[in-house]
Amino acid sequence: MRKNVKLAIKYNNTSVNYDQCGICGCSMEADIPLGLFLCDTHDLVCHKCGKEHAPELVILLDYFNANIKELWSDYEKEGAK
Ligand SMILES: [Zn+2]
Repeated sequence: MRKNVKLAIKYNNTSVNYDQCGICGCSMEADIPLGLFLCDTHDLVCHKCGKEHAPELVILLDYFNANIKELWSDYEKEGAK
C-alpha cells in the first residue's frame, strides 16, 4: 500500500487555502507557496498522510515554507556575487 502512493512537492497555485486531502479526505489547510500533492495530480495531501508515505518530503516542505524569507534572501545574495 505504502509503496503505491507517490507524492511530490509542487507549486501550490490554487487560490483556495483550504482543501481536502487526496488520500484520507480530511479538511486541510493548503501549504503555500509549495504544497504536497499526489504525484501526477493536483490533489493536495495532508501532513498526516505525507508523514506516512513520504516523511522526508514533509520535513523538506515544512523547512522551506517556514524559512522561505531567509532562504530567498540567501539565494539572492548568492546570485548577486
Ligand atoms: Zn490525509
